[in-house]
Amino acid sequence: MTGRILIVDDVATNRIVMKVKLTAAKYDVIPAASGQEALTLAQAGNIDIIIMDMMMPGLTGAQTCERLRADPVTASIPVILVTASDDSEARMEGLSAGADDFLAKPVDEIALLARVRSLLRTRDEERTYEEQGSALMGMEMGFGEAGQQPLSPRQQPVDGQIALIAGGDAAWLLRQRDRLRPLFREKVSIIGRDLALALDRSTTPDLFLIEADLGTKNAGLRLLSELKSRNATRHAAFIVILPAGDSERAATALDLGASDVAYQPFPVDEIAMRIRTQLARKTRADRMRDTLETGLRLAVIDPLTGLHNRRYGLHHLDRVATRCRAQGIRAGVILMDLDHFKSVNDTHGHLVGDEVLSKAAQVLKENVRGEDLICRIGGEEFLAVLPDSGLSEVRIVAERLRRAVENLEIRLGNGSLLNVTMSLGVAMLEDREDAPTHALAIVDRALYAAKDAGRNRVELAAQV
Ligand code: GH3
Ligand code: MG
Ligand code: MG
Repeated sequence: MTGRILIVDDVATNRIVMKVKLTAAKYDVIPAASGQEALTLAQAGNIDIIIMDMMMPGLTGAQTCERLRADPVTASIPVILVTASDDSEARMEGLSAGADDFLAKPVDEIALLARVRSLLRTRDEERTYEEQGSALMGMEMGFGEAGQQPLSPRQQPVDGQIALIAGGDAAWLLRQRDRLRPLFREKVSIIGRDLALALDRSTTPDLFLIEADLGTKNAGLRLLSELKSRNATRHAAFIVILPAGDSERAATALDLGASDVAYQPFPVDEIAMRIRTQLARKTRADRMRDTLETGLRLAVIDPLTGLHNRRYGLHHLDRVATRCRAQGIRAGVILMDLDHFKSVNDTHGHLVGDEVLSKAAQVLKENVRGEDLICRIGGEEFLAVLPDSGLSEVRIVAERLRRAVENLEIRLGNGSLLNVTMSLGVAMLEDREDAPTHALAIVDRALYAAKDAGRNRVELAAQV
């Protein structure tokens, strides 16, 4: 994993020591001697992580961090602050300025590198969403808003469900819960390992606080890696609670996918701040993922009928044709067009027309197998692609679809029933290079033959 790391320290030797550690791990290191210089370099772009000394003349680490968070260009760059001592007041100041983590001097190399890996992983995830979003066929994805969501935990209230998972000491657990509850608007609950593994998407909390040893050594870490590998829980945030000073297992936890770690006995303010930071990041990532999923869906689904659209249908037809040629399998296509549909609109209005289209789409879908595709290829025109089917089967399906639409009854506002019919063309994919284009051309002619022959009927393409 490569990354560009900005090191900010007013003392040259500190910068050099840090640089040696990070370049040995193959990271690009850019040094800065003050907070002001760091801001300028960060704004110029291309910085993946900032590791910054807390105590500097001029802007302190916390002040610099606050300014980074306030600027949309730099708001999401992860920041690790470095402090001379394990001073919990300084830690709170840094965390509430929006820092992602805190390291005490002398910096433990294993902990440092694990933290860097973990932050780079998060950044890569966010970047993937951004790239996929903008690659979505030039669609306006509206990432601007999600991407510029301020991350400073002090600036915004954060919501989220929090689950605590810990071992034997029930009294300790209840105490943690009761300390956290007043600080968060939503639920802080205690759950066990088995319940955590049984969660589904709708019941998964936003954040898990997991003790590293759940009664058995490392059981919490094993649970973490289990939850990270499951669809339902992998996008939650995870904070692992470790015995004081256990930086070696902190590294393991981060490598297993924890978003943060905290050492016992943590002041409640500090854990609350870490929770807020992680919830803010998680909310932001969720929003980006949602936008992306919606965008992907819109790119391939027709909103009126819920069927796949023309773009997807043609792409799918290509894929089926390729598979057929490679495996010597047969496949059929059916092109369908509602009869005299213009007069439905003209007589009953466009809204009734829309309702007919979506009801017709529904019955078409109900009358094919799961592996068959029905798409809306045009206004009142549908295409079915039926893999692994011979001509006689495709004809039977076409006839079934014709009848299903004919039997459809749409109740009008005045209580009367409206019926529609459709005409269909049937063709087989042939064993030729241009099979999809060819099939579409001949099935189109077959459809027009059906229209010419009086509508509400199935015609076979001439070549089959
Ligand atoms: P034919 O039997 O020859 O197919 O006659 P037709 O009236 O169905 O064919 P034509 O192509 O003349 O008209 C198609 C109509 O479908 C015109 C158009 O307004 C309507 N249409 C296309 N898309 C939609 C839609 O999304 N909603 C509604 N309500 N109507 C649509
Ligand atoms: Mg029509
Ligand atoms: Mg038409």
